[in-house]
Amino acid sequence: MLVVSKSFIEALNLNKWLRRTDNTNMRIQILALASLLISSCSTPKSLFQGGRATANEKSCTALVKHLFSSIEIDSGLPYTAEEVSSWIAKFKLVSADFNISDTPQVKIHNQGKGTFFSASENTIYIQYVANGKKIYQTLGHEYGHSVFHEFLKKNKNFDIEEAIAVLQKNDERQSELFSKKLMGETLSVSEVKELAKLDTNLERRIFFVQILKGMDELFADTFDIVAFKNPRTMSEVLLVDLKKPLISIRDFKPTKIKDSMKEWDLLLSQKKYNQYDLMAPVRWQIGELVKLADLDLLHQQALVWKIAELYSSELMLIVNKGDIAELPKFVEGMDSLDNVSSFIKKFNSRFNKNISDNLK
Ligand SMILES: [Zn+2]
Repeated sequence: MLVVSKSFIEALNLNKWLRRTDNTNMRIQILALASLLISSCSTPKSLFQGGRATANEKSCTALVKHLFSSIEIDSGLPYTAEEVSSWIAKFKLVSADFNISDTPQVKIHNQGKGTFFSASENTIYIQYVANGKKIYQTLGHEYGHSVFHEFLKKNKNFDIEEAIAVLQKNDERQSELFSKKLMGETLSVSEVKELAKLDTNLERRIFFVQILKGMDELFADTFDIVAFKNPRTMSEVLLVDLKKPLISIRDFKPTKIKDSMKEWDLLLSQKKYNQYDLMAPVRWQIGELVKLADLDLLHQQALVWKIAELYSSELMLIVNKGDIAELPKFVEGMDSLDNVSSFIKKFNSRFNKNISDNLK
């Protein structure tokens, strides 16, 4: 039996929500969201696997108050604040165990700033793409970044944005060039010349930045597939052909895992270290181990928390125990970075063992 207090029902203020739209589908979505909130916010603790508390009524009330208050959408775009809010509320429910107090703001804009999460502004920027219908999967991915950044700060005392800034410090131009090279982009003749003068220490630091970004992207994508219970949100949102192994590498269930594995090996042998591909074998193993379709909300919540713990414990193993000030020197001295391809392979196999030991 669910126990819901009167004050919580009042805080939900359903009538206010329903008055905001005449659209029947939207009203149904609002009612569905309200029932999701009520059932999730009032679930007895003891029912929850692993004993972790779900969101309580108090944080749910704060969430309800927050809805509609932090969404900005450029005029003329085919989205409403109500729709966006209801998705944010859903992501917030999936991440209820993290007890994140500050929900990120969302700004959906026509062009200019691109699509990313800014931790310093606690804002998700989404750039509208004319044929990109699946904006909510993108929103889920960016929301995943906000969850991971917050988790690392609170539980590991590690600020990933700051670590990246420290590793790139004073070398913006070279960092940019080197990142381009790592992502497999084509460089001009003069850029190649500039890169030839690159200091090997910087090369190591920038490679390490790719690993940090890769972990961040891995969590954001994992959050997305769990929230949507779909292991292929990445290629669907990027509107790509699933048959192309190169692109489906980022999916958690590539159509042909053998082809994707071959393609991944090829990328490493060509020294192309795209942040989205670095932990591809980890993605595929999670796709194998987790039966997404069977998850209910409580299991989604438990899983994203568990995943955050697993990913961050792997991350802590390679970041000098989180000592950011000493990180550049530490990375410059890492012997394992003499051969980055073998570093990536070893990292993936240890990571996969950790996952299979703990996620079965
Ligand atoms: Zn991302």
